[in-house]
Amino acid sequence: MTAVISPVTGQSIADVPATSLEETDRAIERAHAAFATWRNVAPGDRARLLRRFSEVVGEHNEELARLEVANAGHTIGNARWEAGNVRDVLAYYSGSPERLFGRQIPVAGGVDMTFKEPIGVVGVIVPWNFPMPIAGWGFAPALAAGCTVVLKPAEVTPLTAIRLGELALEAGLPEGVFTVIPGKGSVVGERFVTHPLVRKVVFTGSTEVGERIMAGCASQIKRLTLELGGKSANVVFADSDLEKAAATAPYSVFDNAGQDCCARSRFLVERSAFDRFMSLLEPAVMGVRVEDPSLDTSEMGPLITAAHRDSVASYVPDGAPVAFRGTCPDGPGWWFPPTVLAPVSESDRAYRDEIFGPVVVVVPFDDEADAIHKANDSDYGLSGSIWTRDVGRALRVSRGIESGNLSVNSHSSVRYWTPFGGFKRSGLGRELGPDAADAFTETKNVFISTD
Ligand code: NAP
Ligand code: MG
Repeated sequence: MTAVISPVTGQSIADVPATSLEETDRAIERAHAAFATWRNVAPGDRARLLRRFSEVVGEHNEELARLEVANAGHTIGNARWEAGNVRDVLAYYSGSPERLFGRQIPVAGGVDMTFKEPIGVVGVIVPWNFPMPIAGWGFAPALAAGCTVVLKPAEVTPLTAIRLGELALEAGLPEGVFTVIPGKGSVVGERFVTHPLVRKVVFTGSTEVGERIMAGCASQIKRLTLELGGKSANVVFADSDLEKAAATAPYSVFDNAGQDCCARSRFLVERSAFDRFMSLLEPAVMGVRVEDPSLDTSEMGPLITAAHRDSVASYVPDGAPVAFRGTCPDGPGWWFPPTVLAPVSESDRAYRDEIFGPVVVVVPFDDEADAIHKANDSDYGLSGSIWTRDVGRALRVSRGIESGNLSVNSHSSVRYWTPFGGFKRSGLGRELGPDAADAFTETKNVFISTD
């Protein structure tokens, strides 16, 4: 058993079994057996079951949200949204089974058609930063495509995933179709990579582990989606609505205590507006409410573990160039205040690394070309924001930045209707959007001679 620790109190809130290698193998074999029937469930019936699953998740929104507040320290407002996101993503992909169209292609001497065949058992490996949504983005389109799913939550945040597994059964999904397997990455996660019956791995987490998983999948030519780290830029031009840009900026990086692969952890600000932006940013940062995440007013909770807090704190050593810093509770829990670093050099590790905490660097740029150059001066390319009133510039800069998800005059990254994923070392493949179920199928081409 593994003790699950609340980051809010530092106390144990549950004990969860650490699944062994043998038990993992048996779960994968059951998922493989279930695939034989699940793939042949009529599309309309598979759609109905996923709609029912969505409804059951919706009926348990408050319970799931409270569980996430306790287990991950998410604010209650965020956690309700996250449980709602699982409901909505299931509802959205419940439309897919009836729309997994092939094509009929004109050829000589017969009829040619394509089929989208489900891949088989899919292994979904989930990190601790958004336990519910990231799970749903993997399992919902996979189930819709006719695959069965084994899912490993992060060892420190297994509770909502385990509950979702129970709710799937309650909704009528057959045994073995969706199985949640809590345990260690080095045991359960690695087995998804090495077990030949798992035909695709969907991994979200660190670039370091993602690299290893990609290498491991190579020997079986195993299909793979990677959603990895980020060091995204929030590019603020002098011609933008600076008040709005500054008022919203803290939430683009401090939401979920900065534990977000889409966090805009580098603010790039046009030099002529730099001082004005900083003077507007300061009260906005001081105003972020860092408090007990179960309160409706809470805007930021604690970090996930004591070890992670140490890692984040290492980016703000004594003598670090702290421009200003918000507040946070003291006492139990892994709290860290919103922190703004400036001036920072481009060789500083705080400028380069994904800190994954409430720490942002602010750096000036000279012109449009310099803004694009600085935004791209990163191994990552996941997300980013662009603030300007000039439509042409918004489009030029959007096309210039090597990143999968950009927003102009807002900080949105993830909408389940639109594709999500990274350039460069931020990942491989796309999740969400209208085509996500396709990523869980193989295209089969069949020619029928009419001679
Ligand atoms: P991680 O080690 O990459 O963990 C992510 C998931 O992979 C967890 O479920 C983990 O299991 C599992 N895992 C670990 N080693 C594995 C292996 N060898 N084979 C298969 N699965 C494995 O991430 P982390 O240690 O939690 O966080 C470290 C850093 O990664 C963060 O500080 C942040 O910079 C980055 N990160 C990024 C994202 C993102 O959304 N892109 C999410 C989380 C973290 P266990 O729970 O057992 O370790
Ligand atoms: Mg790790």
